[in-house]
Amino acid sequence: METGLAPEVNAVLAGLLGLLIGSFLNVVIYRLPKMMERQWAGECAEMAGKSLAPAEKFNLLAPRSRCSSCGHVLRWYENMPIVSYLFLRGKCSVCGTRYGLRYPIVEAVTGGLFFFCVWRWGLSPIALAWCGFSAALLVLALIDWDTTLLPDDITLPLLWAGLIVAALQWNPAVNLYTALWGAVAGYLSLWGVYWAFKLVTGKEGMGYGDFKLFAALGAWFGWPALVPMILMASVIGAIIGLAMKFSSGLREGGYVPFGPFLAGAGFTALVFGPQSILQFVGL
Ligand SMILES: [Zn+2]
Repeated sequence: METGLAPEVNAVLAGLLGLLIGSFLNVVIYRLPKMMERQWAGECAEMAGKSLAPAEKFNLLAPRSRCSSCGHVLRWYENMPIVSYLFLRGKCSVCGTRYGLRYPIVEAVTGGLFFFCVWRWGLSPIALAWCGFSAALLVLALIDWDTTLLPDDITLPLLWAGLIVAALQWNPAVNLYTALWGAVAGYLSLWGVYWAFKLVTGKEGMGYGDFKLFAALGAWFGWPALVPMILMASVIGAIIGLAMKFSSGLREGGYVPFGPFLAGAGFTALVFGPQSILQFVGL
């Protein structure tokens, strides 16, 4: 697509759009797990024949963002990506509670990824597709880190989108066959690891969400990328695991989800290409 603008300008504009999208992703990361909990609570109550009191409307758009400490509803100029964080010095303007550094980081990372995709692929359908892929992967990684859940509402559309992108031949590196078998092999490989681990140790090392996420990565990058990506995920997992062992308190004795490491492998494959991962890990 031609806008008459220099490619660098397009990439910068995409990066700015990414900051805004990142602001929305923060909302998704925070609210989607709560929405799922509410839904489960409602379904459990229904099965038990009880009815829950109708709760306040709560979805991705309502209510408006507010301070989690004092309930102050953020005004538009307090809700701008990064700028507001710097302007307010990371604090609520009413009660002074500190906002986490994660909000501006998610915004900056989303902006950076969108910038990268348009800088690398120009204003093209595949650049748009990779922007969507990046946003979904970032949300999954953080929701899994926070809650050890990988919502089907994101993993399954991500899987389908990967197959559709392959069918449309937007990515010359992945055709429909490599994408389809990537999805199948991605799912079945982790499913096999899960059952082998469970039979040997009696424990569950990962969840079905991990199989679906790896299937989605297989659809986006094709089956030849699966081995490099699982190696990368293991390397990232080992590094984070060691870091957590030596820095106390990050997640003491708790279960460490695998999804963020799979997502890390997906980002590495996006930025450097799946096969370059083999060089990273020394193969
Ligand atoms: Zn406040």
